[in-house]
Amino acid sequence: QAAARCSICGAPAVARIPYARLSLCPSHFMEFVERKVERVLRRVGALRRGARILVAVSGGKDSAAMLTALSKLSKLYGFELVGIHLVLGFGAYSEKSRGTAEKACRENGVPCIVISIEEALGAPVHVIARRARRPVCSVCGLVKRYITNAAAVELRADYVAMGHNADDIIAYTLKLFLNQDLESIAKMGPATESIEGLAVARLRPLYEVTERESLLYALLSNTPFLHDECPYRPVAPIEQRIKESMNRLEEEHPGVKINYIRRLESRLTVYKRLAAEKEWKPQKCPTCGLLSSGGECGFCRLTRRALGEPKGPHVRRLLRELA
Ligand code: SF4
Ligand code: ZN
Ligand code: ZN
Repeated sequence: QAAARCSICGAPAVARIPYARLSLCPSHFMEFVERKVERVLRRVGALRRGARILVAVSGGKDSAAMLTALSKLSKLYGFELVGIHLVLGFGAYSEKSRGTAEKACRENGVPCIVISIEEALGAPVHVIARRARRPVCSVCGLVKRYITNAAAVELRADYVAMGHNADDIIAYTLKLFLNQDLESIAKMGPATESIEGLAVARLRPLYEVTERESLLYALLSNTPFLHDECPYRPVAPIEQRIKESMNRLEEEHPGVKINYIRRLESRLTVYKRLAAEKEWKPQKCPTCGLLSSGGECGFCRLTRRALGEPKGPHVRRLLRELA
């Protein structure tokens, strides 16, 4: 069999994309990914001159791909990027992540805010989790969400960009479906809405970019990223199994993943209606003033329990100084 050629320019291809019936050379593959990111940003209205996007940079492949694609688009469209990296305090893994994230930002010309959770809160994530008697990942997720949102509020950012790729979103929404937690699917589109003063909209630039595409794009762009996995990563969570099944299905039925994710986006209003029926009104945490689902917010409650005092106000002060 002859080596595959780029469907656009005839140069040797590095990627075969069965669902789009394309083979692509490095530069046309990169363009293919960037067009996906551009279209998602256009659909949600984020391609605005002067818009400010806070980019969550973990140091992994998805954040590297997202950062690089966004930085190219920011030059074309004139929006502003600020990176944020949270040091979780997991020893060597966290130190390597930090170095990689800072380098990825520097190489893309994006300023980077680095916040050490241990310094900000007085204990690293796994210690907070142990004291609160909660799984590390659930505490980690809550702390990361809280601090990035608080930073976005203080920086007056219009969006927080998250590196979830298409496979992550597919696996997560299918898991929500299996649990019949349909209301939560409403929040899994390419962007959520801002709630004035309480929460900044979240943006998923890699909404239509698959995990393999994200990895290849990060490699081809030469953006540094860390291959190591978090030491607290749970073994074979259900999302991982769903991803494997979806990849097998995709091989037999090319396009099944991309069709799902596009239909999901077009049906989000259905899920939003379900969420609205629950009459969940966004409220203000009486302790820190950010978003809460009623009473004190999850972060203030967690830190009150694990660290003896609610840390929301302290984190906000710290971020205000940084901003
Ligand atoms: Fe945090 Fe690691 Fe769990 Fe990811 S795998 S949520 S980084 S503890
Ligand atoms: Zn080409
Ligand atoms: Zn709070």
